[in-house]
Amino acid sequence: MNRREWIQGAFAGGALAALGGCASSSPVPSSAKVVVVGGGYGGATAAKYVRLFSEQTIDVVLIEPNRSFVSCPISNLVVGGVRGIADVTTPYDALRSRHGVTIVHDSASAIDAAKKTVRLAGGAEIRYDKLVLSPGVELMFDSVAGLRAAQADGQLLQAWRAGPETVALWRQIEAMPDGGVFAITIPEAPYRCPPGPYERASVVAAYLKKAKPKSKVLILDANQDVTSKGPLFKKAWSELYGTMVEYRPQHKAVAVDAARRTIKFEIHDDVRADVLNVLPPMRAGAIAVQSGLANANARWCQVDYRSFESTAAKDIHVLGDAIQIAPGMPKSGHMANSHGKVAAAAIVAELKGLAPNERPMLTNTCYSFVSDAEVIHVASVHEYVAAEKTFKTVAGSGGVSAARSELEGRYALAWARNIWADTLG
Ligand SMILES: Cc1cc2nc3c(=O)[nH]c(=O)nc-3n(C[C@H](O)[C@H](O)[C@H](O)COP(=O)(O)OP(=O)(O)OC[C@H]3O[C@@H](n4cnc5c(N)ncnc54)[C@H](O)[C@@H]3O)c2cc1C
Repeated sequence: MNRREWIQGAFAGGALAALGGCASSSPVPSSAKVVVVGGGYGGATAAKYVRLFSEQTIDVVLIEPNRSFVSCPISNLVVGGVRGIADVTTPYDALRSRHGVTIVHDSASAIDAAKKTVRLAGGAEIRYDKLVLSPGVELMFDSVAGLRAAQADGQLLQAWRAGPETVALWRQIEAMPDGGVFAITIPEAPYRCPPGPYERASVVAAYLKKAKPKSKVLILDANQDVTSKGPLFKKAWSELYGTMVEYRPQHKAVAVDAARRTIKFEIHDDVRADVLNVLPPMRAGAIAVQSGLANANARWCQVDYRSFESTAAKDIHVLGDAIQIAPGMPKSGHMANSHGKVAAAAIVAELKGLAPNERPMLTNTCYSFVSDAEVIHVASVHEYVAAEKTFKTVAGSGGVSAARSELEGRYALAWARNIWADTLG
């Protein structure tokens, strides 16, 4: 895709206009058996599958401020100028028209677990029998001094929720001079999408290698080493980009100086860059924290893994990135989609008086682009182990790619089309 096609793609179909968070004008129901907060990978899947598993007999209201679903998976290709934002945008129409989900375009502002109500920013209140909460992550801007102000005036972007910021970050990279530096900082795990920052660095390097070959990509990682697919990423960096990509472990960002375009670290010298992509630590989405559901280190929500019911509040099920993860469980869209199905089955079983599934299973595959065409993957299967009350990776399941390839690039795009259809179609 050339630049003109990309720009056409980015603005096609009003996709950007659809990203805004305007409130719905349709009447808001005063109650529903199941209310879902957050129409991302976890919430949209749960909403659809409660309708499917109940043969459309359980009413579902989905509360989501955005008019369309914009996928983080594949959005690094937008940051690298390979795809447009329209390519990662899907309307919510099929949830409404095919599955009968009532969608309210608003934000949940408060949850009353005792009264079993959700209050919306627009003022309405909805009563639920079961609440599903999949609000994603909140970026903890205040843990890096100066970051909140730099982010607020648009100088320093994260693009860790796909949307207008994703496009704006690409524009910064596109405007960077040849010989400039793109720096991405990575917080200590756990954070949303373990391989995501390394994928972003790779795709940006692929663009710079072609368009601005004197430039540099710095990966400044708070962790001891690359947190996902390390050997495959490192091999790709050295073979495809040579000295253009530099990986520095144990670099925990503590402050930014937006005017001087500088990042300060706990230890190690300051780093100056032309485009700074500083990813702060993360926690469960604000509504989960405010509602007292983030009962693991005040950051993540503990759940009963059989049903994803919160351990802090009955009849509230928390999914996706917001939860305290089981061993080996990544914060990924594929995982959130899997959570959504397990939770939907448990909710339908309970509301219908059916026996719950005592041995749920989850699957995960994360593809990562290491250039604009070549991809690597990691995959796993997870089973609920009753004796330990947690999910564990099934021995011998999954694994990582033997080598990067363009064939896996085609698989990655097919994975995306399939998971968008499964979550929203
Ligand atoms: C650059 C990048 C690349 C990634 N690549 C991959 C990949 O290749 N594969 C993969 O599996 N995963 C990938 N991920 C991770 C994936 O995006 C997340 O794990 C996934 O989105 C988690 O789903 P979720 O439902 O928890 O949150 P989200 O999908 O973020 O959904 C949360 C939703 O809740 C809404 N919301 C928040 N608060 C409220 C409120 N108060 N009221 C109403 N709605 C609210 C938000 O608007 C949002 O729509 C990537 C992430 C990034 C950033």
